Amino acid sequence: MTAAEARVDRVDRVDPVDPVDREPVLQVRDLHVTFSTGAGDARAVRGVDLDVFPGEALAVVGESGSGKSVTMLALLGLLRGARVTGSARYRGTELVGMDVARLRQIRGAKVSMIFQDPMTSLNPVLTIGKQLGLVMRAHEPGMPKRIARARAIELLDQVAISQAARRCDSYPHELSGGMRQRVMIAMAIANNPEVLIADEPTTALDVTVQAQIMELLRDLQHEHHLALVLITHDLGVVAGSTDRVAVMYAGRVVETGAVDPLFGHPGHPYTRGLLACLPRLDERHDIQSSIPGIPTSPLSLPPGCPFAPRCSYAEAACTDAEPALAPHHQTLAACFVTTRVAADQEVTAP
Ligand code: ADP
Ligand code: MG
Repeated sequence: MTAAEARVDRVDRVDPVDPVDREPVLQVRDLHVTFSTGAGDARAVRGVDLDVFPGEALAVVGESGSGKSVTMLALLGLLRGARVTGSARYRGTELVGMDVARLRQIRGAKVSMIFQDPMTSLNPVLTIGKQLGLVMRAHEPGMPKRIARARAIELLDQVAISQAARRCDSYPHELSGGMRQRVMIAMAIANNPEVLIADEPTTALDVTVQAQIMELLRDLQHEHHLALVLITHDLGVVAGSTDRVAVMYAGRVVETGAVDPLFGHPGHPYTRGLLACLPRLDERHDIQSSIPGIPTSPLSLPPGCPFAPRCSYAEAACTDAEPALAPHHQTLAACFVTTRVAADQEVTAP
């Protein structure tokens, strides 16, 4: 069997996601996160619902400040001084309000997260091997150091770091940005989690390395049957890497669905705007440059749909009430004017 055939074989064995038959490994319902600030309450997350099914890859997409990181940090109990309400269940067990010691058992071991900034997440004064050892021994305190080291080498090998045994003794500053991100991934999978949340895992890296890291995440997802939650502001990395997408704006999911229908028939003008930002040929566009206006602040939400002030489709109804998610083609979109967006899509589609 060639490597390519082996790969196809492996991919095919991952069950297709069928939400009807399957229990989500992670289920978020009506999650709210509010920060009290000197300038008033910042309603960073306002009623998020998400389902993550075993073995699938879900992309959470949206401009900076839309509440992607805060949603994930809240469900892992990693936000200090924030009011968190609603529900986030891991295999049926409620995480919101769970005591710290129990939550620590789940965090890292069952649900783990690669944080947005790998430079600040690695300890500069400890070798890579030591840090991996600490992560493993946090969940398995009796693990002998010798075993931890052998397993650390195995993990570095799995994330395709060459000369793993030698690299085990390197310090973070001795590694390239791409290698440091691989180490972060090794740490996140060290305790064989079921869910891996990767927060902007490629943002700080150059394009070639970005592609390599995405390929690694996909490979690990399939090999370990991981549920991958990929947080990104770049819809460009979503198409080939994920099964479903949740688009966030101003602390809510404004559209969600499988990748193909969401790319083919977006119902929300915001999704449409994000898609319009995708680089054509080798151009690079910044999201901000293609959607007019600036993202809504959680400190001063406008009445009605928070996207209305930036939306070319907005009509009177849009400033009266905030739309809820409702079926549109094969996605759910929170928008009163999806029919007009869709009609426009038919006209402008290539
Ligand atoms: P992103 O989608 O870019 O990951 P975040 O989830 O980090 O966005 O942030 C969502 C909103 O919450 C932003 O407007 C951010 O400024 C605000 N926010 C995040 N952390 C805090 C905090 N500790 N105090 C006040 N506001 C915060
Ligand atoms: Mg973020």
